Amino acid sequence: MDKTSKIYVAGHRGMVGSAILRRLASAGYTNVITRTHADLNLVDQAATVRFLAEEKPDYIFMAAAKVGGIHANNTYRAEFLYQNLMIETNIVHAAWQAGVQGMLFLGSSCIYPRDCPQPIREDYLLTGPLEQTNEPYAIAKIAGVKLCESYNRQYGTQYASAMPTNLYGPNDSYDLNNSHVLPALIRKAHEAKIRGEKELVVWGSGQPMREFLYVDDMADACVFLMENQISEGLFNIGTGEDVTIRQLAETVMEIVGFEGGIVYDISKPDGTPRKLLNVDRMKALGWQARTSLADGIAKAYADFRSHAA
Ligand code: GDP
Repeated sequence: MDKTSKIYVAGHRGMVGSAILRRLASAGYTNVITRTHADLNLVDQAATVRFLAEEKPDYIFMAAAKVGGIHANNTYRAEFLYQNLMIETNIVHAAWQAGVQGMLFLGSSCIYPRDCPQPIREDYLLTGPLEQTNEPYAIAKIAGVKLCESYNRQYGTQYASAMPTNLYGPNDSYDLNNSHVLPALIRKAHEAKIRGEKELVVWGSGQPMREFLYVDDMADACVFLMENQISEGLFNIGTGEDVTIRQLAETVMEIVGFEGGIVYDISKPDGTPRKLLNVDRMKALGWQARTSLADGIAKAYADFRSHAA
């Protein structure tokens, strides 16, 4: 990939896609193409085929997906499975037909078995049952990884996959029901502070452990992989460190400046007990995350306030 390559970022309005756009722009890439959802519905096979056949990009960052937190994944199970399978199948097949040279397919750490050894290595994929709350999404993303692998094997394409841990940052969703834990806690702590409340409600037991990566670090890793011409395989993208949901809530409260206590709502699911990624494969290539959790939360909170104000 060089600065004049034609690059399509699928899902450029989302948190990850928009971070990749920022990263490409700051690195001086001049030929980046995008389409809004209104202009191109990636669930529509004919439209996707037409678009890629006309544009013939050299590279694709595949960041288009239906995503959400534990409640959304568990509730809209059919939508998560159907839409993600359709988007991936359409893009990978149409990309191969259009002669697209390289692609980075983006998934999530929830593709790994629920109870696999920690930290999770890439080769633990498909070694055990999945976490139930996000099984449909995980199945779709596993299919995406296997699409890339299979097209590479049969047709000689160069489609690699990156699996980030829980991401957060600008353009995240702050919807209280459907978002992930970190944006939800930022919003809840902020609103509790403004309203002078005494308690912050945290879902589940507070005991599960999660790893969090600032989305600009994720975008940096994606561009790094493409610039280094990584042509196949699966790459975990994370920090290599995790915290309990309780520790996370305490850190958010401190950064937001909310001084009340925590109440645990155990009617809500905990989900998988732990999902810490082993990031040795990226380290061996020479990449590692730069933003600390406290710095990342402070930046995310500043971004949240700039929109809330
Ligand atoms: P997961 O990583 O797929 O389980 O997705 P989430 O980011 O939605 O949830 C991670 C963990 O945070 C789970 O154990 C949730 O129960 C817990 N959690 C605590 N408070 C919240 C909240 O307000 N929203 C969400 N989405 N999760 C929360």
